[in-house]
Amino acid sequence: MKIIDLLTNGKMSLSFEVFPPKTETGFESVKTSTEEIAKLNPSFMSVTYGAGGGTSKYTLDIAKNIMALYGVPSLAHLTCVSSTRQTVKERIEEIKASGIQNVMALRGDIPKELELSDRSKWDYRYAVELVRELKNSDADFCIGGACYPEIHPESINQNEDIKRLKEKVDAGCDFLTTQMFFDNNLLYNFLYKIREAGITVPIIPGIMPITNANQLERALKLSGSFIPQRFKSLVDKFGSNPAAMKEAGIIYATDQIIDLYANGITNVHVYSMNKPDVAAKIQSNLSDILKNE
Ligand code: FAD
Repeated sequence: MKIIDLLTNGKMSLSFEVFPPKTETGFESVKTSTEEIAKLNPSFMSVTYGAGGGTSKYTLDIAKNIMALYGVPSLAHLTCVSSTRQTVKERIEEIKASGIQNVMALRGDIPKELELSDRSKWDYRYAVELVRELKNSDADFCIGGACYPEIHPESINQNEDIKRLKEKVDAGCDFLTTQMFFDNNLLYNFLYKIREAGITVPIIPGIMPITNANQLERALKLSGSFIPQRFKSLVDKFGSNPAAMKEAGIIYATDQIIDLYANGITNVHVYSMNKPDVAAKIQSNLSDILKNE
């Protein structure tokens, strides 16, 4: 099933993101936790891709497993920045052969060992090039792209970032998923600006439930997201009490999601980080809302 069809059916729904193991030894435990999440019957599940491709096999294995055993549509992530054209071509063929119809086309973070001055030698510099390649393949993929309500850290300003985003969408993205954010007003402002810039594809807000204080530090390092005072107070108060922090983080994320639904968003993507208990709690908090009656 193509994700774009889910996004345009007018029903409120929830999807979850999982990540593949880094090594063969971690495979069984990741498989088990992703299956637990799949049993919740989300609208779809996305499986991330280790930049550089080292875990690419696991991304596909997990994505196929979810689809085959539980009938949950899967979205396979694919990055391009440190890959050759030949490798990307092979990955696209593998995704096609596995029957997965949805691909998240990403550039990936630039590995430290790649010198910026060597950019001209890279096979890929931006995600838009991967989008074009997927679009030109004969697989008829539903293609997603990433977007940044608080701008991508490398962008000089938001207008430039949105201009580049429009090029990526025009190249063939069917939908966009956002970077995590902790203040919904940032998303609403972003939506206003991108619609004004002529980007009309569905936007899936990405929500990260922060369930421990260390995770917040890691997430901030990755995304540079703004933390509202309301959320800072919550971490200050409960950060040293793991059970309380988990409960508070899940409720904060649930509250963000309810506000998004109330303001017309239909699908919300949860960065569930291979944690079935967190995914299940958020889903059960929303059970009557998700009945769509
Ligand atoms: P791009 O769209 O290429 O944008 C990167 C930067 O380049 C932006 O500043 C943009 O404005 C600029 N730009 C774009 N095109 C041009 C151009 N033609 N000329 C000049 N500037 C340009 N990483 C992983 O490794 N694996 C994953 O599975 C993964 N999943 C993700 C899922 C989501 C929803 C998000 C938001 C991010 C994910 N990432 C993942 C991280 C992502 O790879 C990084 O944020 C990366 O730095 C940018 O990727 P992109 O696809 O947004 O790049």
